[in-house]
Amino acid sequence: MPTTTARTASSEHVLARMEQHDHEELLFCHDRATGLKAIIAIHDTTLGPALGGTRMWPYASEAEALHDVLRLSRGMTYKSSLAGLDLGGGKAVIIGDARTQKTEAMFRRFGQFVDSLNGRYITAEDVGMSTTEMVNILKETKNVAGLPEEMGGSGDPSPVTAYGVYCGMKAAAKQAYGSDDLSKRKVAIQGAGNVGRYLAGYLVKEGAQVFLTDIHDDKLAAIKRDHQAITLVKPEEIYDLDIDIYAPCALGATVNDDTLKRLKCSIVCGAANNQLADESVHGKEVMKKGILYAPDFLVNAGGIINCAWERKGYNHKAAMRQTEGIYDTALRIFKASADLDIPTYLAANQAAEHRISSIRDAGLRF
Ligand code: NAD
Repeated sequence: MPTTTARTASSEHVLARMEQHDHEELLFCHDRATGLKAIIAIHDTTLGPALGGTRMWPYASEAEALHDVLRLSRGMTYKSSLAGLDLGGGKAVIIGDARTQKTEAMFRRFGQFVDSLNGRYITAEDVGMSTTEMVNILKETKNVAGLPEEMGGSGDPSPVTAYGVYCGMKAAAKQAYGSDDLSKRKVAIQGAGNVGRYLAGYLVKEGAQVFLTDIHDDKLAAIKRDHQAITLVKPEEIYDLDIDIYAPCALGATVNDDTLKRLKCSIVCGAANNQLADESVHGKEVMKKGILYAPDFLVNAGGIINCAWERKGYNHKAAMRQTEGIYDTALRIFKASADLDIPTYLAANQAAEHRISSIRDAGLRF
């Protein structure tokens, strides 16, 4: 157990923030000896233990870190619920510079805080973390998932995430064009990273016309070497292309007031988290423009599905099969959105909430 300060937030303001979206628990972690400053947020454990990565980031303020961890942990609840997993939603943030402030002691101390939650929170890798930190956390708690294969884990989730995005994209095409055939469809992928790279591979294989951009030319060159047919474009050009599908696989908030004036696609479907700059505003705007938005937390669930399999005894084939379920779930969400005349993100939120409340109301909670 941690020997230093570990306290649950008690100020009125923080509790009010928790009340807003029904967060169950916040653990503020501080350790003078290692310089650790972290917040672990457990949003909802109705369906199972709260699983979500730890992010290390030099937040400008505690308020910013709190905002991020509350938002991200809630997102994990919705993602796991919609994916049909027996997992709740949680997330952790460590305030600090991942390039200069990491030490073994800091992450072992953080591992002790995770352990103090007795399995209610399971951590994993997120922005700013690497295998080294996961190894150190693992020294203090077994409540870690998404470990590298050499450590008995499920390895890099990105190929599975990409496959889920591809399945979601096919479902979106079925809804928008009446056929899920992506051959000859023009797809613009933003981000040639871990997910973008594999997604490009699936699309090229099916015969889609792929446009790809990244801020790093070396990443583009490597993919172009494998897939000659891909057309490389400059980062800013991506929003002005004459395309069928825009696939954000880099940053959040790229569907916003500016880009919505420029985007000429009929589908938005990609891996990036929080693609809509303001869910309630831009979720409605895409709908008004006749663009079908495949909710990000629905189509990018392959990674968490892969992680969940690690807990049952990892089986790659089974993880891929379960990820394929994103196709049917997406069709169900698109239908609900059309029937109720509501934005797709809202239909997805409602489906996620409905599963949680039905389990809670039946007294079946974890
Ligand atoms: P990554 O860091 O490997 O790749 C992101 C790529 O985007 C990088 O190559 C980066 O150079 C590029 N990029 C950054 N800014 C850009 C810009 N303005 N224009 C064009 N390219 C830009 O990340 P990833 O693992 O491929 O994940 C991609 C997105 O999907 C992220 O938002 C991530 O949070 C989300 N996501 C990933 C997974 C997963 O399994 N990896 C799961 C769920 C969600």
